[in-house]
Amino acid sequence: MKLKFSEEVKEIFTKLKRAKFQAYIVGGCVRDLLLGRETKDWDFTTDALPSQIVKLFPDSFYDNKFGTVGVKIKNGRQETNVFEITTFRSESGYSDHRHPDKIVWGKTLEEDLQRRDFTINAMASDGTKIIDLYDGQKDLKNKIIKAVGDPDLRFKEDSLRMMRAVRFATYLKYLIDVKTFSAIKENSFLLAKISHERIRDELLKIIESDYPADGIILLRNAGLINIILPELEKCFGVEQKSPERHHIYDVGTHSIMALKHCPSRNPIVRFATLLHDIGKPVTAGKTPEGVITFYNHEIIGASIVRNIADRLHFSKKDRDLLVKLVRYHQFTVDERQTDTALRRFLRNVGKENLEDMLALRTGDRLGGGARETSWRLELYKKRLVEVQKQPFTVADLKVSGHAVMKIYGIGPGPLVGAVLKMLFDDVVKGILKNEKEVLLKRINDLKKESKITS
Ligand code: ATP
Ligand code: MG
Repeated sequence: MKLKFSEEVKEIFTKLKRAKFQAYIVGGCVRDLLLGRETKDWDFTTDALPSQIVKLFPDSFYDNKFGTVGVKIKNGRQETNVFEITTFRSESGYSDHRHPDKIVWGKTLEEDLQRRDFTINAMASDGTKIIDLYDGQKDLKNKIIKAVGDPDLRFKEDSLRMMRAVRFATYLKYLIDVKTFSAIKENSFLLAKISHERIRDELLKIIESDYPADGIILLRNAGLINIILPELEKCFGVEQKSPERHHIYDVGTHSIMALKHCPSRNPIVRFATLLHDIGKPVTAGKTPEGVITFYNHEIIGASIVRNIADRLHFSKKDRDLLVKLVRYHQFTVDERQTDTALRRFLRNVGKENLEDMLALRTGDRLGGGARETSWRLELYKKRLVEVQKQPFTVADLKVSGHAVMKIYGIGPGPLVGAVLKMLFDDVVKGILKNEKEVLLKRINDLKKESKITS
């Protein structure tokens, strides 16, 4: 087999070998190369020590924590790429189930391959041949994720590997080897030792893949969902079928099916789709007629999702989008709704999030056995576009008459309208920003200045 490398990769091989060091590309890039997939990062391993690598590559920097040297190389198109070169490592002692107690430089490639997670990730190449000590090529061919060595020990060493196994199985559409899978089930509780940030990153990679629903099912079968998202585990077995309701699945299954059908590629929108009914288990009730109800589940759901996002350390921006999508996912598309109601919906969701909100709805519909859309939903979408074209009116102000009444301490009357009209004129002229805080301050000032009184 002829292996093809870019000029930059060849340059690194040549420089290391000329200085009489061993040089291999290793790990994910070898796997991707054999699969004919584009690789994100080329990782090198060598017997040269970091100080020796830095000497060979003047434009490089040494990251002490991982013993990795980042080498910057310009390509023909004047772009600079960073390549990672790591000295052979052999690790020992993982008493916290997360990190090796100390990083030890290895003497041989064999030691370095032995510490890697899965057989398909434990291959190296010196530029001409593949070094494959654990039958990685065979497992690639058979589409199997299999731990290097004793799976039980390997997951006890670093429990995040259990999620990595699910991630690779999901995005490559592979099966996890039986022994490896049993070891995950037995050690699933150890995932609780792993930091929430690392768990979040793996989870998002699974959700981002082409088969996110399969990934969540696999996480669940492995006993890992219970650790990552116990709130989701509680949705399974929560029935929603009743005489008046069209529902073919329990809440958990519906959640996974909604994710499967969500047309967005944005992992945050997909995650919101998975969690949109997370408030149902705690709000489940029954009417005297035997109809199952979930009153206010979107409100409770939004607060549960906020907790999940905080626990998993999502950014504020991602958290706000998750919460908003879950909070407003129950929007009705009744053709009798007024334009004002549509505008309120747009204000609540945010125009910039409308497409994401509709993607969640599509997932919700298809994941519940309904058709992708309905004439009502299509009409609603058209009206949302129309409403946005209409001129700005008092109703579009970020404060309502209620705010005026509260600040002035009065009931409804002409004064309320007069204050709103004044705010509206100033916003149209660009004197005031249409922002709640700004407008509230202005109302307070107006009252103090007694500009408008009854
Ligand atoms: P991706 O294409 O998603 O980047 P990858 O296999 O390159 O996949 P990385 O996280 O970039 O994954 O890691 C690079 C290599 O380092 C892996 O292929 C594997 O050999 C090794 N590795 C990474 N994480 C672990 C781990 N937790 N335990 C053992 N080996 C690991
Ligand atoms: Mg990688």
